[in-house]
Amino acid sequence: MEKGLVFDIHRGTTHDGPGMRTTVFLKGCPLHCRWCQNPESMNPDRELEWDAKKCIGCMSCITHCQAKALSPGEDGIRINRKICRDCFTCADQCPSKAMSVVGRYWDTSDLVKEACKDSMFFDDFSGGVTVSGGEPVLQHKFLYEFLEALKMQGVDTALDTSGFGKRERYEKIYPYVDTFLYDIKFMDEKLHQEYTGVSNKIILDNLRFVADKIRKQKDTRLWIRTPLIPGATAVKENIEEIGWFIQKELADVIERWELCAFNNVCKEKYVKIGQDWEYGHCRLMEEKEVRELAAAAETYAKGNVVVSGLMGDAS
Ligand code: SF4
Ligand code: SF4
Repeated sequence: MEKGLVFDIHRGTTHDGPGMRTTVFLKGCPLHCRWCQNPESMNPDRELEWDAKKCIGCMSCITHCQAKALSPGEDGIRINRKICRDCFTCADQCPSKAMSVVGRYWDTSDLVKEACKDSMFFDDFSGGVTVSGGEPVLQHKFLYEFLEALKMQGVDTALDTSGFGKRERYEKIYPYVDTFLYDIKFMDEKLHQEYTGVSNKIILDNLRFVADKIRKQKDTRLWIRTPLIPGATAVKENIEEIGWFIQKELADVIERWELCAFNNVCKEKYVKIGQDWEYGHCRLMEEKEVRELAAAAETYAKGNVVVSGLMGDAS
């Protein structure tokens, strides 16, 4: 049986698919979106994070690190990640949990139990379990087992995916997904490469595959999601290009096109894992700008456009 590396579980989410849901976040992502809101998701392995607010300065972590990867610095504990051996002794020894490990391995059955703790609400609020990331398809063997186990229990499932993965993985997973939350960030391949680190060719090809399946089987929902990043994706021309693609190739299968306004609440996460973030000082989107882009999107996907991230609510 496969084990899955999970970095977070959110309960009572209302933006990760239909109804009220529990979202399970799998660790690891082949994309490196420059605006990424979950930087702790990128690394496919467990990693250390250090929280200055929790640290009581006892130095126990430094004392117990045999690799001498920790040292006191002006801003607190410094981690030399080049020589760290990922033994996580420091986290075990930290009395305040300031030093901790991102990522925990789960058996399928344990994770199903954990994800379904709120299952009484799934029926009442037409919800279920969403698998997000990172890119969940990176852990495709575990993902398959997990989705299959959820379906065997009659749980509604959603998959939040970048679409970047081998076709056969999407073929295998498709029967166990009730809703695809599928990102289209750019239509322009060069811009996609520049801002995410990968081409969008496989992503669009896999999306065409998913759309074809839905067209034939009419058993799965498709929600497209586009992050609105100032100066990058939140450009009218890009929204129009995506809109044109949706109108031409997805009009008969798409249920929703969600425009997700950029926010920077994840700034602290970058600090905790010791990374700089070029979008840390990026301005937020103004409501007027978002509404204008949504109006442009409406031209191509009438009645299906939803805005999220403004005042924290989909509207
Ligand atoms: S994980 Fe191990 S090697 Fe790395 S800093 Fe902590 S104690 Fe040292
Ligand atoms: S063991 Fe924890 S609380 Fe003590 S100095 Fe290290 S990080 Fe801070």
